[in-house]
Amino acid sequence: MQNGCATPWFGSKGAMTTRPVHTRLLIIGSGPAGYSAAIYGARAMLEPILIQGLEPGGQLTTTTEVENWPGDIEVQGPDLMVRMESHAASVGTRVLSDIISELDLSDRPFVAKSDSGTHYTADSVILATGATAKWLGLESETRYRGFGVSACATCDGFFFRGEDIVVIGGGNTAVEEAIFLTRFASSVTLVHRRDELRADRILQNRLFANDRITPLWFHVLESVEGTVDPLAVTGVRVRHVKTGTISEIPCKGVFIAIGHTPASQLVRGQLETHMGGYVVTRPGSTETSIPGVFAAGDISDYQYRQAVTAAGMGCMAALEAERFLAESGPA
Ligand code: FAD
Ligand code: NAP
Repeated sequence: MQNGCATPWFGSKGAMTTRPVHTRLLIIGSGPAGYSAAIYGARAMLEPILIQGLEPGGQLTTTTEVENWPGDIEVQGPDLMVRMESHAASVGTRVLSDIISELDLSDRPFVAKSDSGTHYTADSVILATGATAKWLGLESETRYRGFGVSACATCDGFFFRGEDIVVIGGGNTAVEEAIFLTRFASSVTLVHRRDELRADRILQNRLFANDRITPLWFHVLESVEGTVDPLAVTGVRVRHVKTGTISEIPCKGVFIAIGHTPASQLVRGQLETHMGGYVVTRPGSTETSIPGVFAAGDISDYQYRQAVTAAGMGCMAALEAERFLAESGPA
């Protein structure tokens, strides 16, 4: 990994400016989508530059055991991401420690400016900036995050076999996660701040038909309760939004499912987005509304949000970028 510092140079008028760094393929983001795109892009001799951003390795560096990455029965998230970085670098990707602050997609070559002051120009761009789960912002929620509090049922549901679980939220994600969690949990309480779900009707019907799920209307999470040594959840305190009455629900797992924020600020107003900022891609593809710009992983995926799907989309994006460059030539 190198620093993304640009070399100073003297332009035609003699004033010192910053030499733009040009690449055929600029990959923004260093999660599974970005590194997989980099491996495929480098092996296609596109000599990609990958910008790591503020969180080198992406979301998986914030977790411990990952049990659904094919080929590893169990792997620590940070270890997996270090391996992905060295794989991407070993096949010829320039992995740079930098953050893109502006991206101009109005013309090719596309222009990206970074926090280090570097200007990157690129014949094609893969956006792999991911997404972040929304949290309620409670101190106790933060304390038990990773120790009973999670925002990903697919990732962590397996750890709560035979336990009581609480899910917070009333949208599609909350309802899907509540239904999914009944595969493991003995009971699921869905805590929602209103008495009406935002989720699609078909999902609501499945939820109401599932006798392991109990909805708790007009309630919000007040605090997560638990032990300190070991750090573990024992229950939650919830507050009725109208009466203020506090109740306690014993549980071992708390899933916060109040939405995600896709990291698409760089392309707002430039690319088509939907569902609260997810970049729209052509069905079955990673092509965005601008030719030569591709989006992979959680920035465009509101449905699966998994490491393996992000990696698969990264692969697709690199193959599509390669085809685009072959057909369109350099900018
Ligand atoms: P991310 O991993 O989100 O990476 C985004 C990258 O973009 C980061 O490197 C960031 O630094 C970079 N970036 C953002 N903005 C900029 C910018 N302006 N300039 C440059 N770079 C930028 N999935 C599983 O399959 N199994 C699991 O067990 C699992 N457990 C999880 C546990 C937790 C706690 C969390 C939060 C997620 C978990 N997930 C799991 C989900 C999985 O981590 C994500 O689906 C996956 O990481 C998405 O990959 P991505 O490449 O799209 O983006
Ligand atoms: P969402 O639709 O924004 O729903 C968030 C839910 O959390 C809402 O019920 C909201 O309550 C609740 N909430 C938000 N902030 C809260 C807070 N501070 N305290 C308590 N509750 C809070 O998010 P999502 O469910 O993640 O879905 C995001 C998008 O992806 C949607 O467009 C959705 O349709 C889509 N999606 C689709 C699928 C699918 O098609 N299978 C699956 C998942 C997601 P209120 O209802 O009161 O606002």
